[in-house]
Amino acid sequence: VEDAVELLADEAQRKKIDLNLLVEPAVIGTVCGDAGRLRQVLTNLINNAIKFTPQGTIDVALRLEREEGEQVWVSLSVADTGIGIETDKQRSIFDAFVQADSSTSRRYGGSGLGLSICARLVQLMGGTIELDSAPGQGTRFVVHLPLGVATEGTPITQLGLGDMEPQLDSARAALRMRHAALTQQRTHRFEALRVTRHQQQQRIGMAGTH
Ligand code: ADP
Repeated sequence: VEDAVELLADEAQRKKIDLNLLVEPAVIGTVCGDAGRLRQVLTNLINNAIKFTPQGTIDVALRLEREEGEQVWVSLSVADTGIGIETDKQRSIFDAFVQADSSTSRRYGGSGLGLSICARLVQLMGGTIELDSAPGQGTRFVVHLPLGVATEGTPITQLGLGDMEPQLDSARAALRMRHAALTQQRTHRFEALRVTRHQQQQRIGMAGTH
């Protein structure tokens, strides 16, 4: 989520739009899902928000909704203060090649494919996407997603930390070396203790003979 926002921050800044990100602390490090798909959906929604917002703000928020057994439902919302979408267009906007008004493509460019791809990806992840918009006031897209609970054994790629694999590899190697060194130290100390105890026993034994 942070990656996607960071990537588009420059674009927002160029248009003098505030791009805010709120990630509920409860979500951080506790959920895992398909980071690639999630990034694609979010990038698309934020790109649209930037494109259709002449001025104002874009708020991106990731919140924990509820826990359901092994799953956690999160909501990911992208809300803008842009041109909005007419009510009668809101339903079809997720269909391929549909744009809110025919002049949109001329003014803003685009293919009308972005949202249909988003909807498909969200569906593949087992979630839903909805929108709430008022012409002239803004648009809010909310994605509801079921994610897994991250445990110790969760592959880091699922935690969205795939890029950190090389650093983690060297950290793991360093830990292994440290562990080996500590084990060796412990063995030495144990040996030294045995020798000392042996010497003490000898001394006691010797004292006993006097
Ligand atoms: P594209 O942006 O390439 O035209 P999309 O499928 O991403 O295709 O979006 C379809 C249409 O939905 C857009 O052309 C636009 O009319 C409308 N739309 C999408 N996002 C927004 C938004 N944040 N604010 C206003 N209109 C939007």
